[in-house]
Amino acid sequence: MKDLIFEQCHRHFNDIVTIRRDIHQYPELGFDVHRTAGIAAEALQELGISVKTGIGRTGVIGDLEVPGASKRIALRADMDALPIQELTDVPYKSKIDGKAHLCGHDAHTAMLIGTARILSELQSNLKTHIRFVFQPSEEALPGGAPAMIADGALEDVDEIYGIHVFPLYTVGEYATCPGPMLAQSDTFQITLTGTGGHAAFPHLTVDPIVIGAQFVTAAQSIIARNVNPLDSAVVSITQLHGGDANLQNGLAGAAFNVIPPRVLIGGTVRTLQKTVQTRVQEQLESLLAGFANAHNATYTFDYQEGYPVTYNHEPCVTTAVDTARGLVGEDNLIFPVPPILGGEDFGYYSQKIPACFVMVGAGNEEKGIVNMCHHPQFDIDETCMVYGMALLVNLAMR
Ligand SMILES: [Zn+2]
Ligand SMILES: [Zn+2]
Repeated sequence: MKDLIFEQCHRHFNDIVTIRRDIHQYPELGFDVHRTAGIAAEALQELGISVKTGIGRTGVIGDLEVPGASKRIALRADMDALPIQELTDVPYKSKIDGKAHLCGHDAHTAMLIGTARILSELQSNLKTHIRFVFQPSEEALPGGAPAMIADGALEDVDEIYGIHVFPLYTVGEYATCPGPMLAQSDTFQITLTGTGGHAAFPHLTVDPIVIGAQFVTAAQSIIARNVNPLDSAVVSITQLHGGDANLQNGLAGAAFNVIPPRVLIGGTVRTLQKTVQTRVQEQLESLLAGFANAHNATYTFDYQEGYPVTYNHEPCVTTAVDTARGLVGEDNLIFPVPPILGGEDFGYYSQKIPACFVMVGAGNEEKGIVNMCHHPQFDIDETCMVYGMALLVNLAMR
């Protein structure tokens, strides 16, 4: 069966490359994925699969019904691109300025279309109903997954699987792990307000820059002193603004003799467990309140919870690992891969039903394909789509 599946994947490969490159050239953002969703819906309809569009606003669901089957598994692809300028010089480069498929969701969509084609051909061998889930807006909060779930994407589904192309692993490799695999990724915004004034009369002001700097430094101790060393977490301050400079011009024209009335601070928190997430959030505000109170400043603390942890459940993990091992052998299976502190809205599905997420190696050092997702020169070795499809087809055929 393994040889038959690889043969099928190779036979569909050129068509799937064409679809991927077409989607790549016309990237769409967030929920605005009408063209891409249209390609997915049309491809499913051509196969005689029953299709629902407008799920989760612009998502697509296809159900391949198998007579006599009682179980249903879902295979998920995301369809959206990123608001980044692509800096590759590939012939299928994005034709739309400032938008590009630099996370590989074009390949995910194309692979799921290929998987549907192969499974339709092998339908007589299927033992479970298969649901194809094409979702919008993986990259942008609040994510497309909650909207898909609200519109019934997981209704009557027993298990769900998702894959992601990953250039840090070589084509022909798969990686996954049991339990938490991808982090909850939250953001926070802080306004710290003091009393501005003349820089030569600091005693008449409440200087939010000094207070903000103390907070930023102290926040670095949260991971070191409030999180169990055996747990994983990240606190990164990524925004720190004070004064009135026009940031595009550096500090040209800025007032160096004025203490500003407020500073803005922002950042991200990544965690793999809810208890750690709660602790970090509480400690951030506690430090902020402490410094603000000590210096007679006021603050606002706006903490936005992002996508939940992507959690891999049994028996899905064992199923995925056995399937991957059967396809590429033990040497090309990275298991258990250490969890990654990136976020994925696949986490929403994994909070609802048994799920497993698998990284599909997409890198090729000899071809110079080494840049990570979201890099302006990100690309995949398209051969990885054979492995992505082979895994999904095999998972569906158990
Ligand atoms: Zn991404
Ligand atoms: Zn992605």
